[in-house]
Amino acid sequence: MNSQTESEENHLSHTPNVPSEPLTIVIGAGLAGLTCGFELAEKGKPVLVLEAAPYVGGRTANWNEHGMEVESGFHKFIGYYTLLPELLERAGIELNDMLFWEKTMEARHPEAKESGEFGLDVIRAPLKTVLGALGNNSYLTPADKASLISFFAAGFKDYLANPEDLDEISLKDYAERHHVTQQALDRILQPLSSGIFFLPPEQYSSYAFFGLFAPGIPRLHKMRIGAFSGGMTDVMCRPLADAIERLGGTVRTSAPVKSLIVEKESVIGVELENGERLLSANVVVAANIRRSQKLLAEHFSAVSAFQPFFELDAMPHVTAQFELQQPLLAQDRTTFGPGTQLGSFGEQSRTTFRGKDGRTSIILVDPDSLVDLPEEEVWQRTVESLKAIGLNGVDSAMEYRIIRGDENFYRLSPGSEKKRPKQVTPIPGLFLAGDYTKQPFLATMEGAVISGQRAARGILKA
Ligand SMILES: Cc1cc2nc3c(=O)[nH]c(=O)nc-3n(C[C@H](O)[C@H](O)[C@H](O)COP(=O)(O)OP(=O)(O)OC[C@H]3O[C@@H](n4cnc5c(N)ncnc54)[C@H](O)[C@@H]3O)c2cc1C
Repeated sequence: MNSQTESEENHLSHTPNVPSEPLTIVIGAGLAGLTCGFELAEKGKPVLVLEAAPYVGGRTANWNEHGMEVESGFHKFIGYYTLLPELLERAGIELNDMLFWEKTMEARHPEAKESGEFGLDVIRAPLKTVLGALGNNSYLTPADKASLISFFAAGFKDYLANPEDLDEISLKDYAERHHVTQQALDRILQPLSSGIFFLPPEQYSSYAFFGLFAPGIPRLHKMRIGAFSGGMTDVMCRPLADAIERLGGTVRTSAPVKSLIVEKESVIGVELENGERLLSANVVVAANIRRSQKLLAEHFSAVSAFQPFFELDAMPHVTAQFELQQPLLAQDRTTFGPGTQLGSFGEQSRTTFRGKDGRTSIILVDPDSLVDLPEEEVWQRTVESLKAIGLNGVDSAMEYRIIRGDENFYRLSPGSEKKRPKQVTPIPGLFLAGDYTKQPFLATMEGAVISGQRAARGILKA
């Protein structure tokens, strides 16, 4: 089944390898779609990646937003990821050129006398790491720490032994069950849930909470955090797309897909918003969750295997990014703002946005309450929160942008795990990729890569 339309055949004939094997179309050039495209191209399979936006990267992207360079949001590369770095290496992208490794993290609470500092580099700064975990006496009392130790021990045990049960209980309820002190909940668990996946502990699945940290336990020596050394499209996703093209594949931007083409209950291609119809042997839907649900629902709303997926909820994300006359913070490192509207944030003028005098990116918590507010109001709340933790330097902000997305993430709330779909579907010719699909690394870059690789493996086996 390798019948492309005339226009598409013309398009592919510009690539080094004119396809002699069945074509795969991948919808979406986020990390999942790019990974799938790369894996197939590396095996010599013809692949065409179609991206709606004018740039590749999806949620790991940077672009110019009305005159200011912005990113999809504040991102950290966790040192225990394995498949993402291995993929980048095969694509010729040097990890140490792409990242700056951070040595410490910080948490600032409006009511704490001092901020908490936590070491990250077990191998290179072991003393600081251990002191960070056990120290911070003005941030956490010995009782807070003791309650956290037994909570984490129980959680990691349940993560391995009873993952389904763990996904039925919110982080707040699980913390209460294990007698975590209120202060430890407010100052440690709240930033580690809201700061990372935006949701407050009462809405956050305990499975998602422990699932993010569990893979790090056997790889504790790899537990460090990397900041990008440039915009994520520039240093990661565009080079990955270039690698696909060097291998004979094609990546088209500004090419939004309107619908799947289905014949005799098999997917045989896609129709673009501009009316172009492209036929292929396989289609990988690697769009964000809501768009993927819509593409599937148009043809397969009655397929019972997809019903849980159609019920999987999505959540928005909201970020504030701004440029200042001088750095807001003394170091470029991950900072949490528990007790405020600030999830995780960081100064970036020495790392991701070098060349700026001051540059900060913030993930805001409780995005449901912010996603529809006017930009000025979101900015006002951001400024108030920064001042509440002593960061008055925000007054020198010259430009700001509020960057938000309303349907990109699956909601990491209790009960979501069993609704996540597998990458290989019961429909001939149809595969799924995306962080929301079933894989152990939740809504992360590593998870997106795993999903893309599983979709590619499904195609290679079919
Ligand atoms: C603010 C923020 C902070 C984050 N922080 C971290 C972090 O610190 N560490 C970490 O590991 N992960 C982090 N993540 C998560 C990480 O970015 C995602 O898990 C990952 O990028 C998801 O990749 P994906 O390919 O599954 O989806 P996406 O990146 O969403 O890609 C989907 C692509 O499909 C395209 N598309 C949609 N519809 C169509 C259509 N009809 N036709 C063609 N194309 C279409 C979209 O434009 C998009 O490019 C963060 C995400 C955000 C937003």
